[in-house]
Amino acid sequence: MAQETSRDVGPIVLLGPPGAGKGTQAKRIMEHYSVPQISTGDLLRYNVAQGTELGQAAKAVMARGELVSDDLVCTMVRERLKQPDCKRGYILDGFPRTAAQAGWLDALLDSKLFDNSRPTRAWPIVIRLDVDYNQLLLRITGRRSCPTCGRIYNVHFQPPRTDEACDSDGSKLVTRNDDRLEVIQPRLAAYQEQTRPVADYYQRTGRLVSVNGDLPVDDVTDQIYRVIEDHHA
Ligand code: AMP
Repeated sequence: MAQETSRDVGPIVLLGPPGAGKGTQAKRIMEHYSVPQISTGDLLRYNVAQGTELGQAAKAVMARGELVSDDLVCTMVRERLKQPDCKRGYILDGFPRTAAQAGWLDALLDSKLFDNSRPTRAWPIVIRLDVDYNQLLLRITGRRSCPTCGRIYNVHFQPPRTDEACDSDGSKLVTRNDDRLEVIQPRLAAYQEQTRPVADYYQRTGRLVSVNGDLPVDDVTDQIYRVIEDHHA
């Protein structure tokens, strides 16, 4: 499919448990439509690494695999959405994660006061990636990323050519702190308890589209493009 770089895409929300492939798919959508990927997990990890006030508040919570408070995350997202690169649209990856965050996002998009509201006021396209539980565990425990370019690998399904080194720049691949087995269970539990209501929230308003995330990665991408195109048809 040709690259689509000019028209408004609006907000796209990617839902799904950790390991569902949100990050991988978000990067593809970002390149295809030239809209930024906004990953709240990445933004929080950046703040932790920089030792900002927000990072200090979030660090311990994240290390336990629990959710950072709605207040902190929503403030961070609002600041990010004000940036000019969000004018044509953006992909939210890992947000909203609670029903309160989903309600907050709707209110923000509906608010005439929001700087970037005009081109992106359409309701978000909400896509949920559905993945089998055992598949999720393999994806999370096998996940490695390049600390230099951000490329994501999986030692089971998409290993690098050379053991533990990035194909693009040779950096030593790293395992995320919260991808350790003992942290995965609480993360999946947090998803079940707090993020399911987000899907329910969007389902109730008829906006949830489910995509089969068990399929090969290119097929999942094709399904997502189709959802976006249908939305704008
Ligand atoms: P992720 O990279 O999306 O799996 O997020 C990693 C961690 O960041 C999560 O386990 C939470 O501790 C925190 N986090 C990311 N996004 C949110 C959010 N929308 N609300 C609360 N906490 C979040």
